[in-house]
Amino acid sequence: MTIDNSQPSDIARETLRQLALRRIAPTPDNYRALYHEIAGTVPEEAFPERALKQIATALPRHNRDALRIAQDFESAIGRSDWPELRNVLVGALSAPESQAINWGSLLREFIAEWDRRQNGLTQARKREMLDRVLAASGANPDKLAERMQGLLRAWARNSDEDLPDTDAPAAPSSPAGAATGHAENPAFATLLATLLDGLAAQAQTSEPALSTEARELAAAVRQQPVALSAAILQQRLDKLRSALEWASEDQHALRDALQRVLQLILENISELVVDDRWLHGQIVLMGEMFAHPLDVRVLGELENRLRDVIHRQGAIKVELSDAQARLKEMLARFVDRLGEFSDSTGSYHDKIEQSAERIAAARDITELTDVIADVMRETRTVQESTARSRDELKELRGRVNDANSEISRLQLELEQTSELIRHDPLTGVLNRKGLDEALARETALSRRRGTPLCLGLLDIDNFKRINDTHGHQTGDEALQHLTEVVRENLRPQDSVARYGGEEFVILLPDTVLDSAIATLVRLQRALTKRFFLAHQQKLLITFSAGVSELKDSEEPEQAIDRADKAMYIAKRSGKNRVIAAH
Ligand code: GH3
Ligand code: MG
Ligand code: MG
Repeated sequence: MTIDNSQPSDIARETLRQLALRRIAPTPDNYRALYHEIAGTVPEEAFPERALKQIATALPRHNRDALRIAQDFESAIGRSDWPELRNVLVGALSAPESQAINWGSLLREFIAEWDRRQNGLTQARKREMLDRVLAASGANPDKLAERMQGLLRAWARNSDEDLPDTDAPAAPSSPAGAATGHAENPAFATLLATLLDGLAAQAQTSEPALSTEARELAAAVRQQPVALSAAILQQRLDKLRSALEWASEDQHALRDALQRVLQLILENISELVVDDRWLHGQIVLMGEMFAHPLDVRVLGELENRLRDVIHRQGAIKVELSDAQARLKEMLARFVDRLGEFSDSTGSYHDKIEQSAERIAAARDITELTDVIADVMRETRTVQESTARSRDELKELRGRVNDANSEISRLQLELEQTSELIRHDPLTGVLNRKGLDEALARETALSRRRGTPLCLGLLDIDNFKRINDTHGHQTGDEALQHLTEVVRENLRPQDSVARYGGEEFVILLPDTVLDSAIATLVRLQRALTKRFFLAHQQKLLITFSAGVSELKDSEEPEQAIDRADKAMYIAKRSGKNRVIAAH
């Protein structure tokens, strides 16, 4: 019998026939193998769930990042999701390690505390404490940094700067104490090399020379801890320390200078801007921002506001100078017309005077008739000219009025649109553009600092009913009430944006998924406590929400998308609830 490979039912039938013919036990595995043999296809490999779960159990979970990787790995196994497994592994292996540890300052502090004399702490005792820290930290840099900080705090608490040299023979204050330690104690050499490597990695872009020296010194300490003479090591460490001090002083100076330049720009911009309330408001706000310590978030906000000011400034200048040019041109034409008018009336007077003379000198009626005809003609000309001027003047006045109101309209529109640039006019929270910028900023910050970022998407329940029952105006007020309650119950660093008609997005930086869910639940509770009053009637506003935590592998829009899907699940399962996104 010929089998049509494109017909699964034929293959299935033939498989059953062959199972019977060949007397093969009809188990699922045997059926699958025979099916593929007949179809001429390769059996798909089964997902090795058990083996992968064993690997997942063995994954380290010593810190938050590791825990998250292990959890992502497990959930990918749960969904038999090969591509996601691949993403988790690639992500884990390419994640920069211990980004947050400032090895440079740790090393500086360590050398300073090692050199300093502490009350009741001999050098031998300090070495012993160090040994314990090293043994307890194993190969984990996070733990090492944390324990080192603890150790340095303990040493600093016991420091006694006033102790005269001669009083402490048991605790040599000579800086060589630090350097000799490496030869006597291999653990010390390892620690020093680890610290130096950390410093080298951190200073790589900002201080390449310092970074190279730190790396070379680390290699030397690691390879030949005994051969490296104490004096040379001491000398190189001292040089490194002063280079570090210089570098940090440089950075401080740079930051101060930057701040001064920014302030200068700001002061001068306020001199340059045209008379516009919004622009001045922006500048006052920016000035206030300088009162607080600058950080990346504040600088980002400053940059945005400055860009807006520059952009609107340019736009107003063009629009206003256009309107002013039109006004000037009209005034010029008006003056011309006025000139023409007085010219014509001037010649009229001349003509009338001449006519009067001609009348006085007239000797017969025919002469008079001529004079009268002349006067009539002149009068008509003047009348025409006057009428023309009057019409022209009326039209000009209309156009001047138009131009003036155009200028006022432009100025008003400017004030309003400036407000609208990043904020929703009804509720005052961010609009879509504002949200896009906040999202980009928070995503970058979260990725750079390795901190979690969560997004909540909420949609008011049965909002149409509020509109239908109480009117659109009340609906608007309900939206304002909701945003007010939301704002009051969030931290200053959180952002709220109007995403659609009655949908809002909330950005929660430095927040893990569980806390983000708790935050949204807290907002629900706050709304039950603060009723919305519609014509003296208490209305309870509820919402349904989805919450997602931004993954390393996704764009922020995808995280909003996931939150949106979760929000719909919340709607479908009865509304007034918060659901976490997968
Ligand atoms: P659900 O619980 O499923 O979300 O029901 P709903 O009635 O809230 O949702 P639906 O999307 O059917 O209706 C949303 C309504 O919100 C429709 C629209 O008229 C109203 N709306 C959107 N923007 C505004 C606004 O700015 N002001 C007012 N008053 N109403 C608005
Ligand atoms: Mg909606
Ligand atoms: Mg709704």
